[in-house]
Amino acid sequence: MKQKFTLIELLVVIAIIAILASMLLPALNKARETAKRIKCIGKIKQIAQGTTLYSMEYDGYGPSGDFLPNNLFVSSTRGGIGKQLGVPTRMLYNNSDYGITPSIALCDNGGAYGDNNPLFASKNTVSTRNMNNSYSLNRNLIQENSGKLKLVKNASGRMLAATSGIDGWHNLTSRRGGYIESRAYMAFRHNRMGNFAFVDGHCETRKREEVPSGAYEVYDGKLHFWKQDY
Ligand SMILES: [Zn+2]
Repeated sequence: MKQKFTLIELLVVIAIIAILASMLLPALNKARETAKRIKCIGKIKQIAQGTTLYSMEYDGYGPSGDFLPNNLFVSSTRGGIGKQLGVPTRMLYNNSDYGITPSIALCDNGGAYGDNNPLFASKNTVSTRNMNNSYSLNRNLIQENSGKLKLVKNASGRMLAATSGIDGWHNLTSRRGGYIESRAYMAFRHNRMGNFAFVDGHCETRKREEVPSGAYEVYDGKLHFWKQDY
């Protein structure tokens, strides 16, 4: 007698495959998100290393730049760490490519404009053509000790750079880049976690609630995460 699959058997097999797939997909998504977070922390690590190189080159001073998002990644002579990170100056200004975000400055899960396209900001005709960058330096560092990073007392606890974006919880649109001075400007793009570099060069991933809201929070008074004296 010829053996055949019955409809029921076929349906059972399909159901089992569907159940297995539904069990596997979240694990795959989680693995993909973890990979993105690790790639992101690798970028912020390089930004920290670039800042250390800058500091060594300029007698202990950190990059100064200003609030303009482009200026953290410009060449050293303008107070940025572009040269230390190997970012071609032409990517940032001086020609028709003005506004292109170098890959070192953009997280896979989005930048200042909530988009992961390096051209996004320059395509945005409403805004000025700022970079779509995902990372900012702790602004307090350019005000303390005249900006000398080597004079920071709590180097292992003082935040140097963090994933940024104006809407810290939902990680969406921000014109801010380059410098931040409170949690409100930070972005937690990786499963509601953000990546951080510290003045001593080590990097960490932290949840939002593990970050002081700003230098005036009592909690930060113990940690000096944002600032030394206030
Ligand atoms: Zn990221």
